[in-house]
Amino acid sequence: MARKKEIMVGIDLGGTSVKALAVNRKNSVLATEKKKTEAGSNAKGVIQEIASLVEKTAKAAGMKVKALAAVGIGAPGAIDVRRGVVVEAPNLGWKNVPLGGELKKYLGVPVVLDNDVNVGVIGEHALGAGERVDGLVGIFVGTGIGGGIISKGEIYEGSNGWAGEVGHTVILMDGPACSCGRRGCAEALASRTAMERDVRDAIKSGRKSAIPRIMKERGKDRITSSVIQAALAEKDPVMMEVMERAQYCLGILVANVVNTLDPERVVIGGGIAERLGKDFTNPIRRTAYEYFLHPQTAKRTQIVPGSLGDNAGALGAVVLARQRLGL
Ligand SMILES: [Zn+2]
Repeated sequence: MARKKEIMVGIDLGGTSVKALAVNRKNSVLATEKKKTEAGSNAKGVIQEIASLVEKTAKAAGMKVKALAAVGIGAPGAIDVRRGVVVEAPNLGWKNVPLGGELKKYLGVPVVLDNDVNVGVIGEHALGAGERVDGLVGIFVGTGIGGGIISKGEIYEGSNGWAGEVGHTVILMDGPACSCGRRGCAEALASRTAMERDVRDAIKSGRKSAIPRIMKERGKDRITSSVIQAALAEKDPVMMEVMERAQYCLGILVANVVNTLDPERVVIGGGIAERLGKDFTNPIRRTAYEYFLHPQTAKRTQIVPGSLGDNAGALGAVVLARQRLGL
């Protein structure tokens, strides 16, 4: 009897890179591959690159692509889950790209597609900081702020598939401009991009900071999570102030989410949370508790950093593919 297909590949498609990993039936990682995506390359080119990355990852796990059980993929932007279409992904410059179908044509195996944040939350829920919890909200702080909701153990998509966009909760009316075109969203106040803007503004206004030197030493032209971590380790006053404000805004965001959804756990993921761990989430938790409507039960709501780091999306994509295909 032929051995049942069990190896799967999970893909996390980001704005600048694609990450792939192959896992066995127990979701143990057998191989990992990563590739930078060329800025401005067309959708067809990117899909071909993803297909060749899947081949490479399968090969590294000792498999042929045709022998894979399935491929799960998380992509940024608005996704039509049923049709496997990326409806709109501004940071890829995509509109109505049938990513799921095209990839299936190239690879000849089933492909399951969902939003990158949803699969990240599914990953943390199944295998990371959200394990064995029925009600969970994941908040990913990076270039933007994304979120996803797990209700009764499953991802809650909402009636249009947009549920969980917590990053566009308005925290400060008439606050700074947000990528969505509105003002004062959590993303415009507390994403890594917002922190970078605030640090640069402070330096421009004459404040002294170690950040330009740290960036130079590390050869970075952006204020990355590693630059933020190094600046905080040096107790750079500008970085500490900016971080404190961002954490305060995130605390209000978490409280709003908890007051609405009453989850058992809130998992804060993304590059900064991964690097700073509890140093990032503890101040967020302190503020959130102040804004909880029901402080008597506040301590039961756990607010914790994600534990899968960079692998959350690709692992979640695999878990989702398994669920959807009944594998
Ligand atoms: Zn917004």
